[in-house]
Amino acid sequence: MNNLGTAVVTGASSGIGAATARHLSANGFHVVLGARRIDRLHPIAEEIGGTALPLDVTDPSSVTAFARAVPECRLLVNNAGGARGLEPVAEASDDHWRWMWETNVLGTLRVTRALLPALTASGEGHVVTVTSIAATEIYDNGAGYTSAKHAQSVLHRTLRGEHLGEALRFTEILPGMVETEFSLTRFAGDESRAAGVYQGLTPLTADDVADTIVFAATRPAHVNIDQIVLKPRAQASATRAHRE
Ligand code: NAP
Repeated sequence: MNNLGTAVVTGASSGIGAATARHLSANGFHVVLGARRIDRLHPIAEEIGGTALPLDVTDPSSVTAFARAVPECRLLVNNAGGARGLEPVAEASDDHWRWMWETNVLGTLRVTRALLPALTASGEGHVVTVTSIAATEIYDNGAGYTSAKHAQSVLHRTLRGEHLGEALRFTEILPGMVETEFSLTRFAGDESRAAGVYQGLTPLTADDVADTIVFAATRPAHVNIDQIVLKPRAQASATRAHRE
């Protein structure tokens, strides 16, 4: 049932990206999955009849090679990203900041710029970018991530105006807490610290987020869902949650 064209999902090797690849395929897209851990991509691609390609969004030559291997693209889901560390600005790690800005901001820039010609040529292109509630809120010790997500959001929303009048849609997805490998990456593999983030509440699942992406992507071509903010019921903001 691959009649909706090709969808590219970056960061499809785990979490939201892997779930989005599965949901888009189930709804009629041929999915191209990109990430660094190609061994993780292959079984997902096989399961959904998609295509797995190596992609490091921080490496311009990797992005160029990836885009060359994707001649057709109707939907791009900029999902690759994440956080590293949770420290006050006074103790900020340059390496953490550089990783977050390279992956979330410049990664989104590189992949979007490389695929815009194919998206435009499809006659019905759509760019979905997964930012975060960290794109609209700030919190202590989180400036590296919140600043990167703010910048990624600004980049994404700017495209909406720059391509007004063209057959291109732009949707920003802003999730709150989602249980994925996100916190493991943020806390350098510390499993108990990562589990603590979701303790005492029911977080969103990657499938919950994938579902909203499919919703936005399957509206009629004249409908642009600009933003979707979704959080667990128990989370009121980035800093306020109810835990049992
Ligand atoms: P995740 O399970 O850690 O997934 C992150 C994905 O990004 C992985 O597939 C990873 O693949 C990919 N990635 C990281 N660096 C990359 C690079 N240089 N090149 C290509 N791919 C790269 O976490 P997730 O929660 O699903 O995160 C997905 C997106 O949602 C991120 O942008 C994150 O900021 C955002 N988000 C997450 C939450 C949350 O609470 N989980 C909330 C709001 C927003 P490889 O390591 O294989 O390359």
